[in-house]
Amino acid sequence: MRIVLLGAPGSGKGTQTDAIIARYGVATVATGDLLRAEVAAGTELGRRAKPYMDAGELAPFDIVLGMIENGLKTLAQTNPKGFMMDGFPRDLAQAEALDTLLARIGQPLNRVLFFDVDYEEIVKRLLGRGRADDNEETIRNRLRVYEEKTAPLIDYYDRKGLLRKIKGTGTIDEIRQRIETVLDDVG
Ligand code: ADP
Repeated sequence: MRIVLLGAPGSGKGTQTDAIIARYGVATVATGDLLRAEVAAGTELGRRAKPYMDAGELAPFDIVLGMIENGLKTLAQTNPKGFMMDGFPRDLAQAEALDTLLARIGQPLNRVLFFDVDYEEIVKRLLGRGRADDNEETIRNRLRVYEEKTAPLIDYYDRKGLLRKIKGTGTIDEIRQRIETVLDDVG
């Protein structure tokens, strides 16, 4: 199984990853987590990415793509069940780069899950979360960047027949069940 989780910041992708991993045995690649680890470790890469993260902008393409290439290489060797991506791709250039990468290894995506949550609910959730980059100004900018750069991917994957919409409100359990409905038939 090779899937992408798509949705606004705060749409609940991260909350569902453990359940998806437990049920399908996939490994996860979350670019936000990878970037935060680089920042925490004080690497050169982390130092380059941090100002963008603090501002709610996308980190530079080469940094993120490099992390994904490394991550996928490791995953292909260690996890035969496939992978789930959270926080990547985040714009059209990243989506096209991912397609190219996966075509090269003959492992195209099977599904893209779009977590559908309305704007007001998103803002409420993010303000309640309290991560370092969850202050009001950064949140506003991350949502702007999402609308402008990431939301067009909904159409991009829909045209490829890969998109499945998951209603992202309700209990964690209800959302998990909706996810199972669209993933259980993927080999
Ligand atoms: P959220 O859970 O709120 O969607 P993430 O943890 O996925 O946030 O990402 C936090 C920050 O890391 C983003 O605001 C951005 O600066 C950076 N980032 C994460 N993924 C990417 C990506 N694919 N491309 C560029 N920047 C990214």
